[in-house]
Order: sequence, then structure tokens, then C-alpha cells
Amino acid sequence: MDILKNRPCPLCHKNKLTLLEEEYDIPYFGKCYLMSMKCENCDYKVSDIESEEQKDPSRHTFELKNKKDLNVRVVKSGQATVKVPALKMSVEPGPASEGYISNIEGVLQRFKKIIEQERDSAEDEDVRKAAKNLLKKLWKVELGEMPIKIVIEDPSGNSAIIDKRTVVEKLKVKNANS
Ligand SMILES: [Zn+2]
Repeated sequence: MDILKNRPCPLCHKNKLTLLEEEYDIPYFGKCYLMSMKCENCDYKVSDIESEEQKDPSRHTFELKNKKDLNVRVVKSGQATVKVPALKMSVEPGPASEGYISNIEGVLQRFKKIIEQERDSAEDEDVRKAAKNLLKKLWKVELGEMPIKIVIEDPSGNSAIIDKRTVVEKLKVKNANS
């Protein structure tokens, strides 16, 4: 693990940025690096995954069927979109998008956080109600009572759901000009 401390932050320009690079060797995925930056002054943070070998754009689809499946390993890069079609949810890549190495449970936790924020801060009561319903569904998913599909699409190919039941397809990358 490499750490660089007290680097200049691109946002607040204070020398409070910590850079971290961790190396992972993940079965059926290969060697990859988790790079992250965090500023102690302004809370700016970015993280991303880069794998050693060049990978093709891919779509990974996994059906969560029971509690055990929560432990299935997930690699998600900053370019990936994570979708849970049954909950009509997706997290798109963006400036705040992060790369991480986690498991299905971790992916669901991230969705949960977003929904909880909506439940607690939305002005519109219908939005709050919808968020509460989504949370109820997510609890069922976490208890293994509701099977659900999780889809990760990554034009950089640096994402994966690592299980033998995962369906891996080539992802057609949309032309930026069309
Ligand atoms: Zn900063």
C-alpha cells in the first residue's frame, strides 16, 4: 500500500490531500489497483479501480437469491453504472462516482444510503413515501426473501461481479457523437 500525505487538494488548494494506492489480486479478475484521494480539509474524495490488463466493455448480471449471495465479491470502477431494475434504481458514473471493491451487501448498502437521504430530506411527501417503500423492499432483499437482479455496466471493463452464476456480456458502448 502506498500513501502520499499532505498533497495539494484540487478543490480547496490546501495541502491536506491523502493519496492511497492499494494493490489487489482478485480471483477471476486479476491484479487491480484501488486508488483513492481524500482531503481532510474539505472532504473532497475520489476513488477508482484500474486493472493491470486491458479489459473489454462489459455487462455483469447477477441474481441475488439468498443471504449467502450477499457475500459475492464486487469490483466497481468509477465508470460503471450499477442498476437494480426491480427497484427502478441506478447509480450512474459522475463526478462523485467512486470505484470500490466490496460485495453485493456493500452495493446494497450504498443504495440504501442514497434512499435514506431521500427519505430524510425530500420536501415532497410522495418522494419520502416512495423512499420508505424502497427501503422495505431492500430489507427483504437483505434477508434473502426477495430475489433481485443486480446489473453492472462498465465501458472501461474494470468492473465485475465475481460468481459462477454471473452472466457476463459484451457491452455495446454508445458513440459519444450520436
Ligand atoms: Zn480540499
